Amino acid sequence: MRIGYIVVVFFFFLIQTESWGGLGLKVNGTEYVSLKEVAGKLGLKRDWIQRRNRILLQSKWTRMEFEVHQRDIRINKVRVFLGFPVTYHRSDLYISRLDLKDTIYPILTPQIGLPVPNLKRIAIDAGHGGKDPGTQNAKLGLLEKHLVLDVSRRLGVILEGKGYEVVYTRERDRYIGLTDRVQNANRRGVDLFLSIHFNGIDSPRVAGSETYVFTPRNQPSTRNKSVGASARKYYAGNKNNNWSTLIAFYVQDEMIRQLGTVDRGVKRARWTVLRDLTCPGIMIEAGFITNPTEGRKIKEAAYRQKIAKVVSEGILRYHKTLVRLRKR
Ligand SMILES: [Zn+2]
Repeated sequence: MRIGYIVVVFFFFLIQTESWGGLGLKVNGTEYVSLKEVAGKLGLKRDWIQRRNRILLQSKWTRMEFEVHQRDIRINKVRVFLGFPVTYHRSDLYISRLDLKDTIYPILTPQIGLPVPNLKRIAIDAGHGGKDPGTQNAKLGLLEKHLVLDVSRRLGVILEGKGYEVVYTRERDRYIGLTDRVQNANRRGVDLFLSIHFNGIDSPRVAGSETYVFTPRNQPSTRNKSVGASARKYYAGNKNNNWSTLIAFYVQDEMIRQLGTVDRGVKRARWTVLRDLTCPGIMIEAGFITNPTEGRKIKEAAYRQKIAKVVSEGILRYHKTLVRLRKR
């Protein structure tokens, strides 16, 4: 009786969650596309790394790894979070069409995002400030608000040296609301918004770098499994999702390769500071000050200079891509 019940529930679950029609696979109402189709569209070769579990799509230039049930994939070794998990169906792995459109295409075929934006004026947003200290490590005497202001200044100097016009949302230890930061940047007509942060968490073991983009429409953020009401809305920050994803990918790639930090991925969240931006924007969490090893590094001015340098190199890569696309 009990087994019969489980079997019935199991089949009911299958019918509920998966349907196979002329258009393709749907899981919980989300349309999925096979990696065979993705490989065909992008001109990549598809191979199982481990049958039913992991697939590699590759060409001379590109290498993407997918694992069943996971939301994070690897694009050229960089960890990138999708909105929906990879799923197995009929001898193939599938990803959601939204993830293909909102995350994979913007990174691998950025020309789909035309028109190409300019890159001249860059806003650097040092997180927190004044009464808001951000995260901290009391043992090492670290306050996020001071460290991010320092990195922001260093980054600003490098970018000005490369000919960019830099706008700061704060230049001293001062509290500024999140909405004011965004409105200020929008009003000044910036082409890119970089919010600089350090991470903190209760567990001292956690370390690494992560870069956030504003969550694409109709998709869950990395923290959530399902699509909430806020996902249905279209925010100003959604308009530049493609370009934000591309620059997040470059910055994350530079950080993990050059700083040697743990790759926590390109993630998505509906942060207020990215929500109403009228230009591409990302939030950079370069490391955890609550991790003793990483905290000690971040305490050193030379390491903070390196973070600024590495982030600037991600921006230069992004700019090169824009120039290349404009020539097409
Ligand atoms: Zn912060």
